[in-house]
Amino acid sequence: MTEAGSSAQPRAALPIEQLRAQFPALSQQINGQPLIYLDNAATVQKPRCVLDAVLRCYTESCANVHRGAHTLAERASEGYERARGAVQRLLHAASAQEIVFTSGCTAAINLVANGWGNRHVGSGDEILVTGLEHHSNLLPWQELCRRRGATLRSVPLDPQGQLDLQSYERLLGPRTRLVAVAHVSNALGTLNPIAELARRAHAAGALILVDGAQAVARCPVNVAELGSDFYTFSAHKLYAPFGLGVLHARAELLSDMEPLVTGGGMVELVEAERASYTAPPGRFEAGTPNLSAALGLERAILWLQALGLERVQAHEQDLLGYAREQLAALPGVRLLGGGPALGVVSLMVGSVHAHDVSTVLDRSGIAVRAGHHCAQPVMRHFGVPATVRASFAVYNTRAEIDALARGLERVREIFGG
Ligand code: PLP
Repeated sequence: MTEAGSSAQPRAALPIEQLRAQFPALSQQINGQPLIYLDNAATVQKPRCVLDAVLRCYTESCANVHRGAHTLAERASEGYERARGAVQRLLHAASAQEIVFTSGCTAAINLVANGWGNRHVGSGDEILVTGLEHHSNLLPWQELCRRRGATLRSVPLDPQGQLDLQSYERLLGPRTRLVAVAHVSNALGTLNPIAELARRAHAAGALILVDGAQAVARCPVNVAELGSDFYTFSAHKLYAPFGLGVLHARAELLSDMEPLVTGGGMVELVEAERASYTAPPGRFEAGTPNLSAALGLERAILWLQALGLERVQAHEQDLLGYAREQLAALPGVRLLGGGPALGVVSLMVGSVHAHDVSTVLDRSGIAVRAGHHCAQPVMRHFGVPATVRASFAVYNTRAEIDALARGLERVREIFGG
């Protein structure tokens, strides 16, 4: 058997059993079977240390950030800024002041589309997206173009679901103001060549926003090396709580953006009829911030860095290679996409609807996503309404992929075809 064909974990692998024991959710039984959680592109399970950090926030530092001088308030403010520093180091950003906390990746992209787009995109300008985008990195640009009289263009995909780079070059023009592209596709796992895309965008005089929602927990990210101008992600896909997202933007871009939300916590001087705003990132963080999620994110980042993002990436590459090989060999199973990818396989079982596949798998305790994955243009590209998506995280194993393969065989036995 080849290395990819063995169900044993490769050497120098993550300490999987020890690691799995840190996730309380993974010890559940679902429908009488041990949970096999393969819906990690939607959200990942959280390790005990992150849950503890959230609890500790409420027991030891439950106060409002940047709004008091008492001890708890100082603890809260320090913790929040420490979390910002952890994100800076995760992304290798030049300064913690380049990190804006939002409510999620969607909110971060909308902040750029409005806060930057309203000022810098006008009639006749162009925004370039790709056929791979999650709706959260498509609809904000559609809306921006509608508001500003700009034109939205989209880079087509090749039959493997990779970006057609010749079309990309052709579509980049003197009116292109910004390229918005996923680092890793949530629907197919396609890993885009961001540094190359950024180089070409900059040569054409455009900026580039990278939607890192599916990448940050799967590979090392260095925004300076990638050359991204804006980089966004959601904490909940990085082993951290819901309700928090991140926008990284180069300092000079942030200082030339409008706040999308105004209110408490983002002002210098307020009079009855006018106000002046604080410098970024505070300018973009009006209202009480999500301290518990920020402290959870800080903990998750430290935890992930202790595991080593290179090792995490190697583990996920191994799982993906193994899954592609095992699942493609099953009669009636069609994998969508191919080429460089990370963390995700998307498939069809004959003509069985994805929801039926998912329901059968759930009876065996296997959680996958069925649907269009908020990426309808990708589905249209492959001429399917929906797919079954299995997506991986640090705690998944080859044995779980074997169980998925057996589950898919059962689907064929039940539905035929
Ligand atoms: N971009 C990608 C690639 C995603 O996978 C997701 C979520 O699935 C998002 C953006 C939106 O993230 P959120 O819903 O956490 O804002």
